[in-house]
Amino acid sequence: MFKDVFLTLKLQLELELRFMKVLKFGGTSVGSPKSIKEVANIVRNIKGKKTVVLSAMSGTTNALHKVAEYITGEQEKEANEFIDELIGKYVEVVNELLADEAHQKEAIALISDRFEFLRGHIGTDLEAAQIEKNIVAQGEILSTNLFNFHLKEVGTKATLVSAFDFMEIDEANEPVIPKITEAYGEIIKNHPDTEIFVTQGYICNSHKGAIDNLKRGGSDYSASLIGAAIVAEEIQIWTDIDGMHNNDPRFVDSTFSLKEISFDEAAELAYFGAKILHPQSVIPARKANVPVLLKNTFEPDAPGTIIKNCEVPNGVRAIAAKDGITAIKIKSFRMLMAYGFLKGVFEVFEKYKTSIDMITTSEVAVSITIDDTTHLDEIVAELQEIGSVEVDTDLSIVCLAGDFSEQRTGAGTAIFSSLSNIPIRMVSYGGSNYNVSLVISTQHKKEALVALNKGVFK
Ligand code: ASP
Ligand code: MG
Repeated sequence: MFKDVFLTLKLQLELELRFMKVLKFGGTSVGSPKSIKEVANIVRNIKGKKTVVLSAMSGTTNALHKVAEYITGEQEKEANEFIDELIGKYVEVVNELLADEAHQKEAIALISDRFEFLRGHIGTDLEAAQIEKNIVAQGEILSTNLFNFHLKEVGTKATLVSAFDFMEIDEANEPVIPKITEAYGEIIKNHPDTEIFVTQGYICNSHKGAIDNLKRGGSDYSASLIGAAIVAEEIQIWTDIDGMHNNDPRFVDSTFSLKEISFDEAAELAYFGAKILHPQSVIPARKANVPVLLKNTFEPDAPGTIIKNCEVPNGVRAIAAKDGITAIKIKSFRMLMAYGFLKGVFEVFEKYKTSIDMITTSEVAVSITIDDTTHLDEIVAELQEIGSVEVDTDLSIVCLAGDFSEQRTGAGTAIFSSLSNIPIRMVSYGGSNYNVSLVISTQHKKEALVALNKGVFK
């Protein structure tokens, strides 16, 4: 740990990296030639050195998953047809994005090279999981190259950096931050005149040096990891909404974008349903204390939301909800004072690598929620050896963020009186100072969000 800090400090002094901003643009932000040009404008208008991290153009990652499915399912014809269709789309993008014929040619050569790489996986004996990783990685490679071609054409100097040259995860799929600091720091050092670095979000090397990724939506995480690794001045996440809202705008009218929010609150909200941010992406930024600014590419003048170390207001600041929750209740056979019971329960989840979202306990029973039900049957079968088991599906977690520490009183009353007509399955209060969570049936979610909106934001 200390070694990482010193390494970073040394690099910071050498390179003045603290003045670097990391700007991440999501799939819709680079989703069309028009928005790619808009992103270039935004980037140009932000002063100082910056690293631009891009997602794949919206729709591409899903399409590449489909290609991988065809290839691993040995549907050669479908794979080829789908690849041809994608090439057609990208060629259209190039024609609209680039005016210069030489640049167009170069871009089309790059596209055909990448899609031939995909086709090269047809009939290989590589493991299916590796084929998929190799294929889905191409989306970010395409978007960053297209962006770079556009910058070149408009005369903006930039350096395109391959994420494979510095982004790495270990055996447990955890990012290796010292490696990122060292390798990316070295790259920056070798390009003292570069103002704009462009790199891919999402993709990385595995511990074996193979192509890997940071899981769906992982470009935010890439930006946060880079920002933390070099202790940047700021990380900016540019998407298609004007920041983090106080409630879910898809279900509640007249929500508003928050000016600021603490790392703790943002982590809870992102994990429990706020779609604007990949849940893990708050963690590296919080550790390195690098503020994260959420901005809207399509409304660049809107202030957005800043996530940083800041005062948390009494009571509820924001609400989010996450669907697809399954609750499992386990009632101990041995009843009272059964020590070791919880350990036994947790071991089952650990064995099946299924993470637990929420827990509530009574003396004789425990309720646990999960969102990954891949191993639900096995988990239930093993839990039945410890106690009686009940499973409820189609639930949502409603997460309220704010300051609920014990010296703050009254928030509970407002929350529960707002929900007087809604059946509540679980409540978690006091796990952290900054979060209260409730589990309800998904069919009551909208009603609950609306009622809370009326009752808690006064
Ligand atoms: N392109 C990847 C995805 O769609 C990563 C990202 O966009 O954040 O999941
Ligand atoms: Mg995203």
